[in-house]
Amino acid sequence: MSITVDKEKCTGCGLCEKACPFGAIKIVEKIAVIGDECTLCGACVDQCNLKAISLQRKKLKDVDLSQYQDVWIVAEIKDGKVRNVSFELLGKAIELADELMQDPCVLLIGNNVTKFTQDFSNRGAKKIYIAENEDLKDYHTETYSSVITGIISKYKPNIVLYPATISGRDLAPRIAATLELGLTADCTGLSIKDGLLLQTRPAFGGNIMADIICPITRPQMATVRPNVMEMASANDNENTKIIEIPVNVDLQGLKIKTKEIISASSSECGIPVCEADIIVSGGRGVGCQENFKILEDLANVLKGAVGASRAAVDLGWIPKSQQVGQSGTTVSPRIYIACGISGTIQHLVGMKSSDIIIAINKDPEAPIFNVANYGIVGDLCEVVPLLTEALKKRLSEN
Ligand SMILES: Cc1cc2nc3c(=O)[nH]c(=O)nc-3n(C[C@H](O)[C@H](O)[C@H](O)COP(=O)(O)OP(=O)(O)OC[C@H]3O[C@@H](n4cnc5c(N)ncnc54)[C@H](O)[C@@H]3O)c2cc1C
Repeated sequence: MSITVDKEKCTGCGLCEKACPFGAIKIVEKIAVIGDECTLCGACVDQCNLKAISLQRKKLKDVDLSQYQDVWIVAEIKDGKVRNVSFELLGKAIELADELMQDPCVLLIGNNVTKFTQDFSNRGAKKIYIAENEDLKDYHTETYSSVITGIISKYKPNIVLYPATISGRDLAPRIAATLELGLTADCTGLSIKDGLLLQTRPAFGGNIMADIICPITRPQMATVRPNVMEMASANDNENTKIIEIPVNVDLQGLKIKTKEIISASSSECGIPVCEADIIVSGGRGVGCQENFKILEDLANVLKGAVGASRAAVDLGWIPKSQQVGQSGTTVSPRIYIACGISGTIQHLVGMKSSDIIIAINKDPEAPIFNVANYGIVGDLCEVVPLLTEALKKRLSEN
């Protein structure tokens, strides 16, 4: 790729200079001049109202794929903590990098993120790239995507993995579109075949598993569902290289401004299912929307989240964001309590890796009992309130 400024159109307004995250543009005699620090991220192109700056892309056949090395993950930091999905991505990146004889690397972006390097080096990251800036404190589509696009253009990773979280799902397609790359969303499996990343994900509403490759462009990019891959385990790796990347951020030029961040715990659904340690899930057997209150009461006592089968979601009793299963979220909590859920394969694939499964169902033949560690045969409207009361009592005694 290359970048040019049309001197006839440029008025030297300076918007591009402010927008450049890498400080690569200077206005000289009322014309934008792009310096060597330019990473071709394209942030200035978006800002120029006069369309004076343009990126020229190389034809695909001219791209030398061998320049692209290493398996990167983009770590997600939320509320001052590394989200577990980042360690899951690193676990997979180590496996893929081993097979390719390349390095597993982590990109840490945000404010005050250097302190997390140890977490990743201990778990086997060979290189950690750090893009730190006060104005990257909160996730923002424009700032994060332009900074990461620039970093990818400069360092040329072979593979980049993003978490399939709300921000990862927002970020990765923007980067893919800017760099004109493929992207496989919501992967449930990743492996190497003939040197290429084989990206597996459910397709056609979950009826088939599709294997997808991106043979012509680099990096090969995928978002990966939380709770699907195994976390990288801690070891005593001491050979991590830290690469600090200076970045500038211009909040003034942003098209969308963040006014307030409302945490999920204060939203109508409570804790998102993918982040909960304990999930109380309801199916068609819950009977009606009002009865979900019974499950909420139990979830509140256990400080857990309320989940649901697709049947309950389709009936409009609970938002789709809480659906567990093949076409919903994959979860892996410590405890999963399935209430009035029969246990079809599409539900089981989303929760069967939970540590402990407790099923409450009035049909003793319900398939959910085949995967449950503990089963209660009975009417959930009677059983669940009894459980809630018993737990409340137990907790007040302690
Ligand atoms: C492509 C595709 C993707 C899908 N994706 C998903 C998905 O992501 N997640 C998902 O969940 N499903 C998914 N499904 C749907 C799935 O096949 C089932 O239809 C659905 O899981 C059934 O939900 P359920 O168990 O709540 O309802 P049902 O199968 O109707 O089971 C209700 C259960 O409640 C019990 N019950 C009834 N009353 C009570 C009571 N008072 N107390 C206790 N127990 C009671 C019954 O005995 C029964 O076992 C998908 C289907 C397809 C085709």
